[in-house]
Amino acid sequence: MSTTAKAYGTNAAELPLVPLSIERREPTPHDVEIEILYCGVCHSDLHTARNEWKGTIYPCVPGHEIVGRITKVGDHVKKFKVGELAAVGCMVDSCRECEECKQGYEQYCENGFTGTYNAPDKHLNAHTFGGYSQSVVVDEDFVLHVPENLDLAGVAPLLCAGITTYSPLRHWNVGPGKRVGVVGIGGLGHMAIKLAHAMGAYVVVFTTSESKKEDAKRLGADEVVLSNNVEQMQQSQKLDFILDAVSAEHDINAYLHHLKHDGNLTIVGAPENPLPVAVFNLILGRKSFSGSLIGGIAETQEMLDFCGRHDITADIELINMQDINDAYERMLKGDVKYRFVIDMASLKN
Ligand code: NAP
Ligand code: ZN
Ligand code: ZN
Repeated sequence: MSTTAKAYGTNAAELPLVPLSIERREPTPHDVEIEILYCGVCHSDLHTARNEWKGTIYPCVPGHEIVGRITKVGDHVKKFKVGELAAVGCMVDSCRECEECKQGYEQYCENGFTGTYNAPDKHLNAHTFGGYSQSVVVDEDFVLHVPENLDLAGVAPLLCAGITTYSPLRHWNVGPGKRVGVVGIGGLGHMAIKLAHAMGAYVVVFTTSESKKEDAKRLGADEVVLSNNVEQMQQSQKLDFILDAVSAEHDINAYLHHLKHDGNLTIVGAPENPLPVAVFNLILGRKSFSGSLIGGIAETQEMLDFCGRHDITADIELINMQDINDAYERMLKGDVKYRFVIDMASLKN
């Protein structure tokens, strides 16, 4: 049993996003149906819509920063009630049986988690469709509670940009006494600045955009370095940890060079092409270079609660669904302060 929902998506890599009609299942006993109020626009949406990582299944409806209100719950749902706020991030299911899932690392599920979009749909004979849509139906175990005190549109980006930066900051013990670098002030980077600052670290931001310097300080940076200015790069002091959130090709070696001995650089940005690493930048100083993918469900709730306590939301520009293609072009130019969020009411127009 399924119902039809309005959505926005694309039928091919080189085509713009257009209105589409998609199927949503009737809630099963363990499902929650959510009327989507806001959906953030992640750079991963663009990478996927344009097939930059290959493997995109069309039609593609992106969107994995979802907040809304619950309209239906299945008979066995225990954690949610109709009328409550709820959120969904990058995953809507996983195998729940492997060692990773049992430990709360659903994002590293050995059998592959079910992405909110572009993944095989276990219920309907199709693939999953994301949050650029009027509604979504998700198993309650993959639905999050939203802190009541936060602005709802600003919460949406926490579901990907928030957790993707929170998880490695926690894993690498960012806190008081640590000098932490953040590379790239986009959706992810601006959340990393806010979160690292709230965790008590000394935050150094690297940006290619002169126009973002003042904002970076307001967001919580203690220092801002223009990464295309050789002198500023040379003067900047060494760091314990660096989080790289750049969406395009760039010189990773310049940042590895900025680590103290035993320092770590974690990359969350996912450019289309490989980045060359000069091994001597790792050998000299026993440095490490690693990656990180979103975060588990329990950790995502922990992050939302942390943001509730610290009054943290994303800095957003609210757009109508019909403006999405223009928003993608602006995102490519780094011209967003600092996350586009779609007002899903506009989908009714
Ligand atoms: P975004 O909002 O577009 O931000 C990317 C930022 O990177 C830009 O604002 C810009 O910052 C910098 N940048 C862009 N092009 C650059 C270039 N050629 N050289 C140097 N810097 C450049 O993107 P986002 O949504 O934050 O996503 C960032 C990346 O993370 C994307 O690749 C996305 O797919 C990936 N991602 C990964 C995960 C994960 O789990 N690992 C989760 C979500 C997203 P400045 O203007 O400050 O230089
Ligand atoms: Zn994302
Ligand atoms: Zn699993």
